[in-house]
Amino acid sequence: MNSETKKNLDFVQAVLKEAEMYAHASRLLTYDQETICPEKGMEEQGEITAFLQNQVFKLQKQPKFEEAMLYIYEHRDELEEFDRVCAEQLYRDYAKTRNITTEKQLEFSRIMNKAFVDWSAARKASDFSMFADSLKKVRDANIEMIKLRDPKDMEDLNGKKNAPSLDPDNKYYVMGQLIGDYERGITIEELDECFEHCKERLVPLLKKIMSSKKKIRTDFMHKEVTEEQQRRMTDYLISVIGYDLTRGAYSTSEHPFTDWMGKNDIRITTHYYPTDFAASMYSIIHEGGHALFEMLQPEENYDHFIEGGKTLGMHESVSRMYENRLGRSKSFIKLIYPKTCEIFPEAMEGVSEEEFYEAINVVEPSLIRTESDEFTYTFHIIIRYEIEKEIISGDIDIADIPRRWREKYEEYLGVSPKTDREGVLQDVHWASGFGYFPTYSMGNMYNAMYYNRMKNEIDIDKAVESGDFATINNWMKENVFKKADRLSPAEWIKDITGRDFTADDFLDYLEEKYSGLYEL
Ligand SMILES: [Zn+2]
Repeated sequence: MNSETKKNLDFVQAVLKEAEMYAHASRLLTYDQETICPEKGMEEQGEITAFLQNQVFKLQKQPKFEEAMLYIYEHRDELEEFDRVCAEQLYRDYAKTRNITTEKQLEFSRIMNKAFVDWSAARKASDFSMFADSLKKVRDANIEMIKLRDPKDMEDLNGKKNAPSLDPDNKYYVMGQLIGDYERGITIEELDECFEHCKERLVPLLKKIMSSKKKIRTDFMHKEVTEEQQRRMTDYLISVIGYDLTRGAYSTSEHPFTDWMGKNDIRITTHYYPTDFAASMYSIIHEGGHALFEMLQPEENYDHFIEGGKTLGMHESVSRMYENRLGRSKSFIKLIYPKTCEIFPEAMEGVSEEEFYEAINVVEPSLIRTESDEFTYTFHIIIRYEIEKEIISGDIDIADIPRRWREKYEEYLGVSPKTDREGVLQDVHWASGFGYFPTYSMGNMYNAMYYNRMKNEIDIDKAVESGDFATINNWMKENVFKKADRLSPAEWIKDITGRDFTADDFLDYLEEKYSGLYEL
């Protein structure tokens, strides 16, 4: 490396280190706000969080930093791999925002903040019209943000894929760019094909499940339990999957989440419902999966500031692997059944292991995405994706969204919301922009692919049944976690499995599992 490159790299790293201190503090405050911050303390704390985040923004927007960053990006061939990845990550962010002024940035964040407040109020009142105006502004801001980008930059960043939606004049160009912000390198064409394929296979299967004679009892799942009992279950489950309490902590929040503070502090949350003990069990396993991904990544990622390189789809693949693929398997139920009976004796009285397994996997078309079963979940995502495309391309007006929502739910799941709260207002995501939802489904498809490789190398059922998560976590660490920050999703899944991305492994898995469960 020439001395000029070294000098610039050192400067970039020093700034990133400083920025990380502000970012770390701001994440702590956010976690606090979501968990125990008193209502009246929120506003003051919100101001401090905004101040800290602004410091991070300012540090990275200073001309000296941008110059040094561009220098190392241009000389990236001289850098060692981790630093080269860092230079590429920094350049990607820079290219996307270089035409966005600080004032514009502030205007966008004000629109999103207002949208969040309006969404909360509209949801409470179950009245979409209270959110419509803000949502329209979010849509327009998203379109403006993408149009401010230089198409040439985007072409360089996205590679030279031959997809019509990558043409700036294409109707789906904006939506395609938004999707790519979350799942780097994926195109609208690829997603369309993937979801069409899912529909072809899942729609007929759902019909068969719904007309199956098999009766699954779920009465006991809604018996009243105490918070204390659920806390004991949480303690048990996090120790089973290997979440390290010396490097993490858990709390409760309205919506469960994972927050990464630093390399030795990865926190998770859950939510206790008095008449749905399985909800907190599976949210803690889900968040625990996210946390393991962060806890078991290479040390070098932190030293070279690249730990944010994982995509949301990669992250969801891991959390859903632990929650569904492992957590809802027969072997996992076998492992936790005795403890579940011990902790919830009233609810589990007279319930067999087989009945517990069936109840955990029951298929019930429903209105709420976060409470849906593993099988129908994909439909919730497809519905949102199809509506998002229509919103961003201008095919439907904002005022038409609730109607479209009802039509799609009726079409795919045979249920239709009576209120906006159980319909279009259930998710917060659109208040901060569009394009996020598909990553949830991509996650299911990635993990189905790497599960199929893992099962050739280790006896997964035996490991799960005996509570030997160390074997599983080690395999994940070596094969799934190790290069996630360094590769694009397509390169990453190919690196793990030797194959190109496909939805088939996931669809095969659903077909086999649910045909068995419903005796089809
Ligand atoms: Zn998640």
